[in-house]
Amino acid sequence: MQLRIPGPTPLPPEVLEAQTKQMINHRSKEYAELQERLVRRLKEAFQTKNDLLLLTASGTGAMEAAIVNTLSPGDRVLVVSIGNFGDRFATIAKTYGTDVVPLRFENGDIADPDAVRKALSSDPAITTVLATHNETSTGITNPIKELAAVVREFDKLFIVDGISSVGSIEVKTDEWGIDVLLSGSQKGWMAPPGMAMVAMSERAWDAHRNSKIPRFYWDLGRAKKSADAGETPWTPAVSILYALDAGTELMEKEGFANTIARHSRLSAFVREGVKALGLKLVAKDEKNASATVTAVYPPDGVTERAIRNAMRDEFEIELAGGQGELTGKIFRIGHLGYVNEADLQAVLDALKVVLPRLSGAGVGSR
Ligand SMILES: *Cc1c(COP(=O)(O)O)cnc(C)c1O
Repeated sequence: MQLRIPGPTPLPPEVLEAQTKQMINHRSKEYAELQERLVRRLKEAFQTKNDLLLLTASGTGAMEAAIVNTLSPGDRVLVVSIGNFGDRFATIAKTYGTDVVPLRFENGDIADPDAVRKALSSDPAITTVLATHNETSTGITNPIKELAAVVREFDKLFIVDGISSVGSIEVKTDEWGIDVLLSGSQKGWMAPPGMAMVAMSERAWDAHRNSKIPRFYWDLGRAKKSADAGETPWTPAVSILYALDAGTELMEKEGFANTIARHSRLSAFVREGVKALGLKLVAKDEKNASATVTAVYPPDGVTERAIRNAMRDEFEIELAGGQGELTGKIFRIGHLGYVNEADLQAVLDALKVVLPRLSGAGVGSR
């Protein structure tokens, strides 16, 4: 089976082998060296000198950690959303009693920096802005540099979900002024799900000191104290760290900038291919289309489910469906991590067989 979903992603042989290694003491010099090496590489990929902390969690755990470590109940929080993952950020923030001001754009659009500026200037009580860098549910990449510049104009805390972007799409954490940046091991990092990463700026640590949401497992203050000693506060997912070590080693060998360029090139290849098949992108303006996932509408009269079933049953290619409002309306092709042009050519070739047949026979039209 070829897994072409936006995480988890297929793993290279080096990573598969790494994660079968014997356990080690997570309070040992050997472990500390692993963590130190991994964090050094991750900081390079995040383009940050800030603290970078490892959490045993899926990406959503990191989203929750970002919120409980920087906010207090009643804080006014602008949540900029362009899709399902932005909406999830709003839901988590509301769950912890913050006063969420939603700024929702249509599926297929980016967040307009001017609209963010307007929201911030009309509501000075807002302390924090949450946004998604790469909205995996719609296949759209936000202009996060421009959004960060607006947030900096108003000197607010800027928390960014970069779960499906960091490592695969450029983010200059420090230069652009992102205070908290998140990622997850199963997206562009060629590792299995299970570890999340959080980069914290000085401004984020100031917010941490003032934040009043209760926390224990997610307490990044404890995580930092442990990290300074080459540890994590709780037992980490050691096997996933072995995998992440091997995955980031491959990225380092490729060159982090080359990994990003590869994603950009492959995504253009996929878009050209699906357009040539007559399919319409969810991205209203192709220049905003994501380098890690392509979201596509099925042709009229064919369900996304029929397409995905045929792709799976006949070609052993697993594509992703839609999420949230787009459930049943779109399908998505993941192209992040361990992927090359031949992998994606296989997807396009299979679609070329499947689509005309489904359209012609009207199969899946009900
Ligand atoms: C995958 C993803 C998440 C959620 O990650 P989980 O690991 O499923 O919890 C959040 N945000 C974005 C943008 C993602 O792509």
